[in-house]
Parts: sequence; C-alpha cells; structure tokens
Amino acid sequence: MDGSEENIDDPSSEEKSEDDSSAHSTAKRAKKSTKEPHQKTFQTKWLSDSRFKGWLKAVPNDKSAAQCVACKCVIKGGNSELVKHSQRQKHIVAVKGVKNSAYR
Ligand SMILES: [Zn+2]
Repeated sequence: MDGSEENIDDPSSEEKSEDDSSAHSTAKRAKKSTKEPHQKTFQTKWLSDSRFKGWLKAVPNDKSAAQCVACKCVIKGGNSELVKHSQRQKHIVAVKGVKNSAYR
C-alpha cells in the first residue's frame, strides 16, 4: 500500500472515429430522416463569400435558412438559392441601396 497513484487517464482512450461515418452509425443523432442529398443548413463560410458578403445573415432560430438584410427576406434552400437570390434585380438594387445609405 504505497501512495503512488497511477491513475493517469489517457484522453485518447476514447474512440474518436467521427470522420467517415457512412455505414457505421455511432452515437450520433439517431433520426430517421437521413435522406439529405445536399447540405442546406447555413454555412458560416457563406459570410465570407464575395457573392453573399454584406447582405447575408444567419437566421438565429432556423439553421436551414439565411436572410438577406438588404431585401429583409429569408432565403431557404441552400447555396443555389442564395446564388439565385443574389442575381435578382430587386436584390441587386436593394444591396446598392444598403451600401448607399450610411453603411460606411
Ligand atoms: Zn436580397
């Protein structure tokens, strides 16, 4: 009974294989609907995308949507819908209006 505690817990003892979880379903959210062909949730990288920069914002309570601060509307459907929206005449005019008004 000596006081040497050998209780060094290796942090890497837990299995961390969360990269390619295609067939093996780990302890992820076991939802039934795994039919998601495209990621349509809000991507933070969009905020730095030159096409969306300046008018795109995340919707706080809806990750599947983004909002256009220029048109004050919500866009759903992911990247392709955002691109479509960015090409709308109404939107282009609205973005110009935002930039012309005191937007620094
Ligand atoms: Zn817009």
